[in-house]
Amino acid sequence: MPRVIPPVQSHVDAFFWEGVAHERLLVQRCAGCQRLLHPPQPMCPHCASLERVIEEAPSRGTVYSWLLSHHPSGDDPEPRIVAVVELIGGDEPLRIVSNLQGISPADVVTGIEVELCFEVVDGVALPQFRPVSA
Ligand code: ZN
Repeated sequence: MPRVIPPVQSHVDAFFWEGVAHERLLVQRCAGCQRLLHPPQPMCPHCASLERVIEEAPSRGTVYSWLLSHHPSGDDPEPRIVAVVELIGGDEPLRIVSNLQGISPADVVTGIEVELCFEVVDGVALPQFRPVSA
């Protein structure tokens, strides 16, 4: 059983997956109110603008929240760590749901600093995060 179902892309989020395929994390910025928008969406929820520009997101963040996800097949030796990462270094907070790599579930705590990395799982490239090396 595959661990990842390939994303069904639309005109709204094709830029995001194209960026991931080239190991870039891209987000939208509303051309009307200049706010960052994620996940990709067709209309700004703040000002209703349909115009936006695409830009590279910060590659570092902190773990805002997290949980352990056990695959229903039971085939995974360890549960996946699903995390909400608050990206830092941009001009405003931006949160993204992703997975943590390179860390034991027992060592995950809220607030640890993580950095962007990419992994191909079942043929699907995914943005992931790992702890920042000291
Ligand atoms: Zn806006």
